[in-house]
Amino acid sequence: MHFMPSTSASRFVAAAAAILLTATGVSPRNPLLAQGRGRGAAEAHKNGPWFGVALPPPPGKEPAVIVGDRAPRPVTLPPGEAATLELTAANIRADLETIVNISKESRRTKEVGSGQTWGRISGLPSGEKSIDWGIEQFKKAGIADVRVQTFKQDARSSFWFPMSWEVRLLADPSFGPGSADVVLESAIPLSPSELPAGTLTAPLIYVGTASPAVLQHIDVKGKIAVQLIVPQGHMVFERGPAVSRDQDLIKRGAVAVFNIVRLPGNELARDFNNCGGLCFNLGSRDGLFMESVFDRIAQAGLDGKFRAQITLKTESRTNLTAKNAVAVIPGSRSSDVLVIDAHADAWFDGAGDNADGYSVMIALARHFAKPQNRPERTLAFVASAGHHSPGINGPRNFLQLNPDLAQKAILMVNIEHVSQRNFSPARSVADDGTREFVADSGEAPIVAGVSNKSPFIDTLFQQGVTRYGVNFISEKSDMGSGETGGFGDIKGAKITIMQAPPLYHTTGEVLDVISTPGLERMARFVAYFIKEVGKAPTAQINP
Ligand SMILES: [Zn+2]
Repeated sequence: MHFMPSTSASRFVAAAAAILLTATGVSPRNPLLAQGRGRGAAEAHKNGPWFGVALPPPPGKEPAVIVGDRAPRPVTLPPGEAATLELTAANIRADLETIVNISKESRRTKEVGSGQTWGRISGLPSGEKSIDWGIEQFKKAGIADVRVQTFKQDARSSFWFPMSWEVRLLADPSFGPGSADVVLESAIPLSPSELPAGTLTAPLIYVGTASPAVLQHIDVKGKIAVQLIVPQGHMVFERGPAVSRDQDLIKRGAVAVFNIVRLPGNELARDFNNCGGLCFNLGSRDGLFMESVFDRIAQAGLDGKFRAQITLKTESRTNLTAKNAVAVIPGSRSSDVLVIDAHADAWFDGAGDNADGYSVMIALARHFAKPQNRPERTLAFVASAGHHSPGINGPRNFLQLNPDLAQKAILMVNIEHVSQRNFSPARSVADDGTREFVADSGEAPIVAGVSNKSPFIDTLFQQGVTRYGVNFISEKSDMGSGETGGFGDIKGAKITIMQAPPLYHTTGEVLDVISTPGLERMARFVAYFIKEVGKAPTAQINP
């Protein structure tokens, strides 16, 4: 990814230090155990560079979560249900891999600047490829009415791109012999951060949770404030408080803010935008390293010596274009429309957001394209440009460009993040309570948002659990995601099927964390859902 010569050198030194620690019987795998917060720390710097604190792992060295050999629980079909080939786990998994490969190509070809960020990005070729793949599948399935619809970015919008960057912790001789600069590989700038001078060097200051009770004791003026964010679940739930504390730190005079995001692994995490200034997210392992160094610096009375150098190049792009693909299968009984949507765009590999939902949606289109499965109501499958790229909204453009379908839509179902495995903090890393996340045998919890709280639709979700073993959460919800928001003008029920696991919008969301049987569970459930909704009176669907 992003090596600088001096970083490689510092990694080498760290490796040497680790061997030394092993020789003395202290495990280098456990940085906090090795250093022991408050235990023998005064002598720690004698152990080597950076007060003897173990350096964070190089990028790609360790996965965000551990996926062991035990497979997820297999699919069991309800009695009498045929094992239709197009809905089988292996077939959907193959499509999922094809979709993720579009992201990998975006990374390999450095689609964005230095290649530090990648994805299936609407407005760029990777986004277009993602939709083109869907068009091909719709056509191969034999669907006659496939609409390819291109649209322009809203004239008031611009798309901020981080082209290249580096966050470098500057070594100081007082940190111990052999200390060399450390580049934090998990650092990622947040939209719309700018650094017109190109580079900035400033002292670092740790501000903990950055609450007013803490900040009354700390002067952040002229410094880079480092705050700790511990998301409950994933980052979305933390957006409000995290961003307002970032903004407060900038208002108090911080020249930049680093968010240590305490999630599994050491991943680049895309969230917490609009912080009011220059802001970066950092992964857990880089964050733990910094926190340990802050402690050593405090204990050694070296306040003010810990500094970072930031470089950043960005670009704003306008007049971008993107496209949706819409496949229409006419109903046998009614011209009422059921819209089945999956967004095709993604940050990074996006195996769970939303390659899983997209591959499930394509499997369903293949299923209902077969004459023997012809639906009673008309189905409109949407491979959507999604909602990540500013001014390029897939759902809104779908409604605008397909008034015939939009007006007759009595229900929309958005299949978004549906088959990521569940992770538990199961493996102990250190004796201070730090734990690593391990995948278990099920899928992460799935929320079923039903905008109109229809009791009939809720019953179908209950059957999803009992018939297919889909891991829906037990509480009813009327939530709608960002993608669902674009369908606001549809009069009927808007259904969001969505997981919210901790690797959402991070580089950790890779193929390994997807449950292959989970893809089939979800595909079979949604197929059942569509058939039942197809038969039901409109008054039950939209009471
Ligand atoms: Zn999504």
